[in-house]
Formats: sequence, C-alpha cells, structure tokens
Amino acid sequence: MSQKPILLWYRNDLRSHDHEPLNQALKTGAVVIPVYCFDSRWLQNTSFGFSKMGVFRAKFLLESVANLRQTLRDLGSDLIIRQGLPENVIAQLAITLNVSALYYHQEVTAEEKLVETELNKALSQHQISTQGFWGSTLYHPEDLPWAIAEIPEVFTSYRKPVEKSSRVRPTLPTPDALPPLPNSLNLDLGTLPSLEEWGLEHPRSDPRAVLFFRGGEKAGLQRIQDYIWQGNHLEHYKKTRNQMLGADGSSKFSPWLTFGCLSPRLIHEEVQNYESERIKNESTYWLIFELMWRDYFRFICAKHGNKIFYASGLQGLSLPWKQDWKQFERWQQGITGFPLVDANMRELSTTGFMSNRGRQNVASFLTKNLGMDWRMGAEWFESCLIDYDPCSNWGNWNYLAGVGNDGRGFRYFNIAKQSQEYDPKGQYVKHWLPELAHVPPTKIHQPWKLLAVEQKRFGVQMGVDYPLPMVDLSESMQMNRHIYEITKS
Ligand SMILES: Cc1cc2nc3c(=O)[nH]c(=O)nc-3n(C[C@H](O)[C@H](O)[C@H](O)COP(=O)(O)OP(=O)(O)OC[C@H]3O[C@@H](n4cnc5c(N)ncnc54)[C@H](O)[C@@H]3O)c2cc1C
Repeated sequence: MSQKPILLWYRNDLRSHDHEPLNQALKTGAVVIPVYCFDSRWLQNTSFGFSKMGVFRAKFLLESVANLRQTLRDLGSDLIIRQGLPENVIAQLAITLNVSALYYHQEVTAEEKLVETELNKALSQHQISTQGFWGSTLYHPEDLPWAIAEIPEVFTSYRKPVEKSSRVRPTLPTPDALPPLPNSLNLDLGTLPSLEEWGLEHPRSDPRAVLFFRGGEKAGLQRIQDYIWQGNHLEHYKKTRNQMLGADGSSKFSPWLTFGCLSPRLIHEEVQNYESERIKNESTYWLIFELMWRDYFRFICAKHGNKIFYASGLQGLSLPWKQDWKQFERWQQGITGFPLVDANMRELSTTGFMSNRGRQNVASFLTKNLGMDWRMGAEWFESCLIDYDPCSNWGNWNYLAGVGNDGRGFRYFNIAKQSQEYDPKGQYVKHWLPELAHVPPTKIHQPWKLLAVEQKRFGVQMGVDYPLPMVDLSESMQMNRHIYEITKS
C-alpha cells in the first residue's frame, strides 16, 4: 500500500448520503477505513441519576449502526465497531493501523468536544492529522451572515438575515462504491453490541405509539417517501404539525436527524422538489422554518458553550428553583392531575416520543407551575427521548424555563386552555389515560371539577382512579411569575 489509509470516524452522521468526511476521504484516493465507537459514557447516569441513554434511543442507535454497516458492506467496504472511550479506542486504532489522518464530523457540546480535543492531542503525537467537518445543520456556518460568536440572541433576528442572504449548500453525492478494506490489515471488525449486553430490556412496542421508529438511513429515507411523497402530508404540515396523535401530523424526522441518518440538506432538497413537482405553500416553508430552529439551537450552543447546561442558562438568571423529588416524580410518572401533562408524560416513558406541543406544555408546567429545577426535566428528557439532541433539548428547555433566548420573558402555557385547543375532543388524553375514557369532551380537560354524581356516571373516582391536581394552575403560575419578575428586575 503506497498511500496510508484514512480512518473515517462515524458519530452522529450514520449515513452514506451528503457526507463530507466520506467524500473528502475518497477524493484523496487513499483506502478509507470506517469506524464507529459506542461511547461507554452513554451507559452511565445523568447528574440527577437517570440513565443517560434510555432503551428507545439505545435501540434506535443500534439499528442505525447496523444499517450503516450493511450499507457500507453493500458499497464494498465495511464498518469497524468498537465500544469504550472513543478518545482512547479511536486513537489506538488509528495508531495501530498507521493511518495518515482521521476524518470526522464535528460536534458542538462539551462532552463531544472533549473527545475531539483528546483525540487531537493523542494523534498529533503520532503525526496523524485530524480533520473535522461541519455537517449537522441546514446552513453551513461559513455561509451565515455572521461569525458564530456574533449570532443574534433572538431567533427572528437570526432567521430573517439568513433567509435573505444565505443559501443552503447542495447535498454531496452518495458514492456508488467504496474501496474494500485491505486484507493485509488483518482487521478485527468487531460485533454490534446488544441491548442485553448493556443491561437494557427490549422495549415493548406499544400499539399506542405515534410511529414504530426504526433506526438507520434506509428507514429514514423511507420516512421521507412516506411522509412527503406517498402520504402527501407535507401539503398540510403547518395546520397539522401540532397534532399529538398519529404518525403524520408532523414529519417525525427528528430521531433520524439526531443520529444523522438523514441530513437536513437532503430534507431541504426533497422539499424543494416537492415544491416544484406538487405544491409550494406555507406548509412547505414551515418545515424548513422548523429546521432553522434546529440550526439555531446548534449555533447558539456553539456560541455559548456550557452555559446552556447551567441552571441560570444563557441569560445567567439565577432563579430559586426547587428540587422537590416527590413533586418531580408525579410529573415524571404522569400523575399530576392535569390530563394533558399526564398523557404526554406517560407517552414519553412508554414510547420515547412526545410531540412538540406536548414538550412545550410539560416543560412549562414543570417550571412555571411547579417552579422545579428545569435541569431535572431536561435530564429526564435526555434519558427518555428517542430523538435526544443536546442542542435542541437543552436549548428548548432554556427557552421554556425563561433563562434562554426568548424575548417574551415569562412564557407560560395555560394547560387547561392548551388542552382544550389542541385536543378539543379529548382523544389524545383518553388515548393515554384509560381511566378517563368515559368522561365527555366538555369535562375531560378539568376532571377535578366533576361532581360526585358525574364521577359515578363516568366511572372515575377523583383522587382514587385519577389524581386530584397537585397545584392550583393560576395561583402557582402567578407565584412563579412574581419570583421571575423580581429576580429579573
Ligand atoms: C422542551 C423541549 C425539548 C426538546 N428536545 C428535543 C430534542 O432533544 N431533540 C429534538 O430533535 N428536538 C427536540 N425538541 C424540538 C421538537 O419538539 C422536536 O424536534 C419535534 O417534536 C420532533 O418531531 P417532528 O420530527 O415530527 O417535528 P416536525 O414538526 O416535523 O419538525 C421537523 C424538524 O424540525 C426540527 N424541529 C422542530 N421543532 C424544533 C424545535 N422547537 N427545536 C429544534 N428543532 C426543531 C426537528 O429536527 C424536527 O424533526 C424539543 C422541544 C422542547 C419544547
């Protein structure tokens, strides 16, 4: 072998399409050796003691890596699989294989960046170069009107100039074939771990789930086909995206985006094709608008570093948050006495997914009604969500807790009103709260108001079959608003 190989380190970019490190490595003409390392940190606990990676995400990740290995095999190559601390495992592999360089996609949050820094340090001692590429957002940072350090603190002030003056780059081609891994290297390819090996039980697939999420590029591409093309759901996305029931109100692209099984630029191209072949309307625009929110949180994290994880958030606002575990567990388990909150929290722990509308409401309830440390909620989401992404999760929690980039200050969601507006017939809450199955739509959003005779008629005894509300919505909100306002002033 005249030219030394390049090690291609896969991270949250588990795809063959629109992959700059892969494209650039191939261009050099060197042998490309793809590797993935499951980081053993993911099997630890968060600071509040929840498992860092719950079973739904773990399963999706394993499926995604399995699919990537198959794709690379179909293209003539393979994927080395390892477990451990990537800064050690990848460095060791690069040194043993005597590669010239390590190519990878950069991340933005602390734990991931630390791994990059350590790897750079270890490899530079062996004259192995490292080259990080940016590939997780719709817009490339070099194409933004500002340097990352100058990104505006308010979303609209970010979005408008970007829409006006920046362009989304076209996707990079998917290779037709890859150079085979040389036999001479005697590679131990490694095996895919199992959930059991990680001490996780296979999740029960619940028929009430919005979608049966399957990890991997192949399933992600299929979801684009199903949602955009076959189902034609994009046409009405703006109207339906707040639906909490069913697969097709919103795109459900998030888990595939999180693991990079889908590139946001590919979705952008599909939307453009749809606009030229079918219809261009406010819905087609709105899907891109939402992807811009995703970008925004990523750039804001890149700008502010660890601030996003502090209790005082991006604003540095020190609010006297509570850490009352008894109250927190009621929220976590979906037994607060507020059907919209409870249904969403039970959906999250049972399926690993919750709609955006649900996420906003339960986060508002935890912070604006219970006054609870928002980081407990963010970590619970981190543990449970199939689509957990540090930037989107912690960025949105900052926002909802009132310590992030939100011009509106004390942003409060009125749970009973939201429930009425987004679930007028109570179908969503009944889906998750069978104990309220016979309560009529007019009464279901405030079951604490049911008279004894009504409770008997509808087969639910308040305080026995379904909990009484843990707080008074209005009083608790006003108290927390008062605390917020005096802290801010
Ligand atoms: C408290 C809270 C925590 C969240 N945590 C996460 C998280 O860990 N991972 C995650 O991907 N999203 C997170 N979101 C954003 C949003 O709820 C999900 O992206 C969305 O519900 C996923 O469903 P979808 O793919 O059908 O969304 P769609 O409505 O179809 O939107 C398309 C895509 O746009 C992006 N997007 C949409 N809304 C947002 C948003 N508010 N912020 C950032 N990106 C957005 C997502 O990538 C999504 O897949 C969070 C929101 C809140 C309020």
